[in-house]
Amino acid sequence: MNYKFISYIAIFCLTLIFVNSISATPRDVRVIWAGSASSNKIAITFDDGPTPSNDDMILDVLKDAGARATFFEVGQRVKNSGAEGRRVLKRMLDEGHEIGNHSYSHLNAAHLSNSALQQDVELTQRIIESACGYRPILYRPPGGGIDFPAVRSLASTDIQTVVMWSIDPMDWQRPGRKKIWKYIADNLSPGAIILLHDTHIDTIKALPLLIDLIQARGYEIVTVSELLR
Ligand SMILES: [Zn+2]
Repeated sequence: MNYKFISYIAIFCLTLIFVNSISATPRDVRVIWAGSASSNKIAITFDDGPTPSNDDMILDVLKDAGARATFFEVGQRVKNSGAEGRRVLKRMLDEGHEIGNHSYSHLNAAHLSNSALQQDVELTQRIIESACGYRPILYRPPGGGIDFPAVRSLASTDIQTVVMWSIDPMDWQRPGRKKIWKYIADNLSPGAIILLHDTHIDTIKALPLLIDLIQARGYEIVTVSELLR
C-alpha cells in the first residue's frame, strides 16, 4: 500500500467524521429557569392567553410603568379570539413586549411523542405568525412538562429557548392579590422569571403593586429575551 493511497483513505475517513459530526449535532435548544443572578433584571411572564380584555388592562399597567413582559400564547386561543386576539397580539409587539409559544391546545408536552410535539409547536408558530407577523423563539411547555429528548427535538423548529420559571405564586388557584404580591415579595431575586396567567383577575389586580415592588427594589422589568442578553 503506497502513501498516496493511505492519505486518500485518511482524507475520506476525516470527511466522513466531519460530515457525521455536523448532522449528529443539531442546534442546541436551551432550557432556562432564570437569568443571571448578577443581573438587575426581572422577567414577568403571562401564560395561557390571549385574553384580549384582560391583556388590554395588563398592557395599560405595563405602559404606565415603563415595563416589558412576555406573553406565552396558546395557538387555539389565538385562533378562537379572532380579530380581537390579533389586535391585542399586535399591540403587545408594538409596545415592546415579547410573544412566546405555549402549545396549540395546552396539552402537556410530556404526553406527546417528539414528532407530535414538533407538529404542535409548528402549528402554533404558524397561527401566531399569521395573527401578528411574528414567529416566536421561546417555548413554554404547559405545566412545565418536558424532558431532554423532547427539548432536543425542538431544534428542528424556530424555538431557541424553553422557558421555565423561578417564581410561581400559583395565581391560577385564585389566592387573592395580597397573597400573590406577598409570595413574590418574599421570593424576589436577581434574574427571576415570574410565572403569571392573564386569565385571572386577581393577577391583574396585583400587577400595579407588584411592579412598584420590583422597581422599588432597583430591578428593570424586561422581556425574557432581554433578560438572557
Ligand atoms: Zn399554561
